[in-house]
Amino acid sequence: MSNDVGEEDQVLVRKVTPARDVVLQIWQGRRLFSDAEIDTVARRLEAEAERAPSDADAATGFRLKDLQIGDPRPEPLWDAQGSNNALEHFDETTQELAFRFIKSDARIEQKLRRPLAWIQLDGVRRTFYAYQVYLAFLMLVEERGSRRGMIVADEQGLGKTTEVLLYILFNYLLVENRRHCNAHPQRHLGPADDPNSRCPSAHLWPIVCWCEQNVTRELSLSPRSGATLLFVPKNLLPTWKAEWTALGVQTSKYALHLFVHHSRSPSSRYVGGEYRADLCLVQHDTGAWCPRDASRAHSVIVATTPGSYPRHVLSYFRRSRRVSQADGSLSGSTGYDDGLAWARVIYDEAHRGLSEETIATAILRSLSQKQGEPPNFAFLTGTPELRNGIADALPLVEIINAASPSIGRHDLCRKFASHANLQTIRNTQRKLQRRSLDRDKRTAFAATVAALRVAYMVKRTQESIQNGKPLTQVPPLELFDVWCTSPSRHTKIPIAEVESHVKKSLLNAWPPGTSGPTTSITMEELLRVAVRARMIATVPGLARFPPEKLTIECIKKELRHRRGRSGRLYKHFVELYEGSAKLQVLASIIDRLGTDAEGEPEHLVVLSEFPVICECVQMLCLEKDIKSRWVDSTTDLAERGRIVETFQTGTKLRPREHRPRVLIGTVDVLGFGVTLGKSARLVLMEPSHHRAVEAQAAKRVNRIGSRSDRCCFYRLTNPDSAVEKLLVASQDRQARFGDLVSRFLYGAQP
Ligand SMILES: [Zn+2]
Ligand SMILES: [Zn+2]
Repeated sequence: MSNDVGEEDQVLVRKVTPARDVVLQIWQGRRLFSDAEIDTVARRLEAEAERAPSDADAATGFRLKDLQIGDPRPEPLWDAQGSNNALEHFDETTQELAFRFIKSDARIEQKLRRPLAWIQLDGVRRTFYAYQVYLAFLMLVEERGSRRGMIVADEQGLGKTTEVLLYILFNYLLVENRRHCNAHPQRHLGPADDPNSRCPSAHLWPIVCWCEQNVTRELSLSPRSGATLLFVPKNLLPTWKAEWTALGVQTSKYALHLFVHHSRSPSSRYVGGEYRADLCLVQHDTGAWCPRDASRAHSVIVATTPGSYPRHVLSYFRRSRRVSQADGSLSGSTGYDDGLAWARVIYDEAHRGLSEETIATAILRSLSQKQGEPPNFAFLTGTPELRNGIADALPLVEIINAASPSIGRHDLCRKFASHANLQTIRNTQRKLQRRSLDRDKRTAFAATVAALRVAYMVKRTQESIQNGKPLTQVPPLELFDVWCTSPSRHTKIPIAEVESHVKKSLLNAWPPGTSGPTTSITMEELLRVAVRARMIATVPGLARFPPEKLTIECIKKELRHRRGRSGRLYKHFVELYEGSAKLQVLASIIDRLGTDAEGEPEHLVVLSEFPVICECVQMLCLEKDIKSRWVDSTTDLAERGRIVETFQTGTKLRPREHRPRVLIGTVDVLGFGVTLGKSARLVLMEPSHHRAVEAQAAKRVNRIGSRSDRCCFYRLTNPDSAVEKLLVASQDRQARFGDLVSRFLYGAQP
């Protein structure tokens, strides 16, 4: 193998050829790039990016105005992570293999001085970041080992959707390539050929051909026939559909299709008759159930929701005769085993709906124990430990274990393979939350949590350093605590009254003689009874309304200003405003906003956990004559999407409708998943119990493509409220436990 720069190649590099073509042409020559060539290609990629900045790589530089509001919060919202830490599962050997797999060279990535989505695959429009290719490749390799699944916990904004679609595409290509090798041996290398030569049909695939002595063969990346089942919350179905379209897979080249099986999705398109037989498992002579030979199941991605699965997937594939129970589950021991040829099951937003015994849990469990070979599982979540720490990740671990017959042979997973061990972890987590774990046990538990994460999860952040640079370019996030003291003594009275009521009802919940709530109450229990106290801490004037009036249904039916200022709540607005330091602080934030990249007045996102607070914020905007919209759990999906898009881009406006400058929403609806980067600032009206919830909320505005030089997150807290102070303190405790875990993962930190 020659390593010097040939005259011919130097000419090639100097010619005005797109960098990708240079990469491919040199690759075709089957020799290593020289360092000079690598450098030339990297510089050219940087120059190309300079000329045509993509959406994902928008020019930064617009300077966000300093509002002079709030105290900077020193601790970050997420755990600090360094380079090469265990959860990133990053190593240069795997990266090199990943690049060879797609006929490229990892050294180009190493030479780039800033993050670029430069990696192209023939027949695919979107270009990829190295870390995206890396993960798709890692999933491909690992699912062929003893652990048949993974929790993909990459931070929001890194493009988990893209990573997973790429992984599905890789699987598709493996099947297509191998079938071509079998069907047309004369067009591929045979045993007699020079092992260093290139496959004569290499141009047909963007991955290396099986017939070559290369990655596919070295790692035994066997093709797996079977379809992809994608579980997505219904509000994200349109997002997945859009991401699939944006990926731009040329259907003339690759017959890979995404079908949406959901009754109420506007983008629903079901698998047609042409694929139905391909998707059904058949019993072979050996007795094993597999897809029929030459099945095209690998061409199919079915996106659905757990709720739609029984009717719109199971029954749809004519399995209805076996569906006997009302909820669509199958009778007998098969449960939800559907007899369909799933090779992989992807579950998006896996922090939702799996921590308890739900229909989703039952479906996944059945699929993990299905006849024939169980599918591989990929769980996607930016926050695998959202509510109850590691306990939330355990159902996912159990499903992966069930789908992995030889999990006991996996070095890292072995000790988590038994149900009893996982149950112990669950119990210990509960004790930790009740603060009944002594120091030594806490330390030991942190080590266990760290080991479990490393065994099942991949997690990178935008700030992760790989190949000498962060993964993406996002502006830094600045956090502010804004303390909003009650404007007058009499506004403190309702807060104190409601909170003493909370304490009383908590005390009553414990029979006399037990240890009592003061030592063992969990935060969850407190939050359940403290809902009213938390609303009143934000707007004390709401104390005059009976609790049942402050629900979302009641606000919409009775209190809301359908026509501008005529609502019943609005009649009290001045009084509510004057008693609420938080609304006054919000008003001054709005007053001080500067201009954005386009020179327009800055946009703003305001979130609260409580619909009635959102309503108060909207009344404030109405009073200040600022266009606003608010989105809550009752806003229908299409409308939510439309409002967000109107806010983001100003398109999709209805006649006589104005683009909202302030977007208001409840945390459960706008706090996850959506991109609200039009605003560089986010105001959270009250502290959350969970640091992870605040981190998720902040990520709505702090994303790839943010155009400001920084983003600001304001958390409003009323120091007169014991509950709010407790929430803030509880977050600090969570941070400390997180730090403890971090020390095990990343070594000592100050
Ligand atoms: Zn070949
Ligand atoms: Zn077979």
